Amino acid sequence: MARVLVGVKRVIDYAVKIRVKPDKTGVVTSGVKHSMNPFDEIAVEEAIRLKERKVAQEVVAVSCGPTQAQVNWDTEKVAGFGREHAALNRLQPTRGRAALIGRSKLETLRTALAMGVDRGIHVEVSDSEYESLQPIHISKILAKIAQDEKADLVIVGKQAIDDDANQTAQMTAAFLDWPQGTFASKLEKIDDKLTVTREVDGGLETIQIKMPAVISADLRLNEPRYATLPNIMKAKKKPIKKLTLSDLGVDTTPRIEVVSVEDPPTRQAGVVLADVDQLIVKLKEGGHI
Ligand code: AMP
Repeated sequence: MARVLVGVKRVIDYAVKIRVKPDKTGVVTSGVKHSMNPFDEIAVEEAIRLKERKVAQEVVAVSCGPTQAQVNWDTEKVAGFGREHAALNRLQPTRGRAALIGRSKLETLRTALAMGVDRGIHVEVSDSEYESLQPIHISKILAKIAQDEKADLVIVGKQAIDDDANQTAQMTAAFLDWPQGTFASKLEKIDDKLTVTREVDGGLETIQIKMPAVISADLRLNEPRYATLPNIMKAKKKPIKKLTLSDLGVDTTPRIEVVSVEDPPTRQAGVVLADVDQLIVKLKEGGHI
């Protein structure tokens, strides 16, 4: 049976309105709510389902980031979390999962453990180191850990919603020289082969690849579960191993220089037109027709 490694990234929560730093070097991250990257929740869910189907024997989550990537929580917060979670569950069964977990300081790795992952690996970096880490470095880190842990499958999200890079799965597969099934919307294991249904432009593509392999999770692969209160408590006892970049011997020299980060152009206010004739005049004026 397989050992599955899942990449989980701590990102600014999807519901937060992003603010660009005045010097345009990046976005404001301090004092901003963070959560697990939404596609990584889907990757975690798929790995746990593989374990439940007895395809996997162990699921290990890896997160590379500053200390907050694996913050512990205290009982009081968990009790509050339980009440809030139950209330939110009743009101909005399919929303707010990661947001709620982020609010209760139960962060990335602990969230994965509370969902059902067996153990965690935290590759700890300082805030400043983290700012210069790029997908190529994360890929090297994941590839090295996959080898050290003798993983048979690496599952990551199709993209991180902060850098929107969509590169880590592909480069991890390249470093490992393993086949890859990216943008997976269905995953089945038959013998030592994986059948992956991929979301491609205008349709679905089904491929078969051999294990060991790298998979990236697309939106429709599954619906991630909630972490229940008993599982949150159980997760507290699950082990998290700490590693540093020097433990892994990964070269983290930046390959990309960010020249400038800017806000999208502000949208013009709309106008209400009386009839179609006016609409045609406006469209002509704007050079649209
Ligand atoms: P990206 O290529 O940056 O869009 O990221 C794709 C996926 O790689 C994410 O959805 C995560 O599963 C994984 N990943 C990226 N950065 C990290 C990180 N710092 N720690 C763990 N996994 C990561």
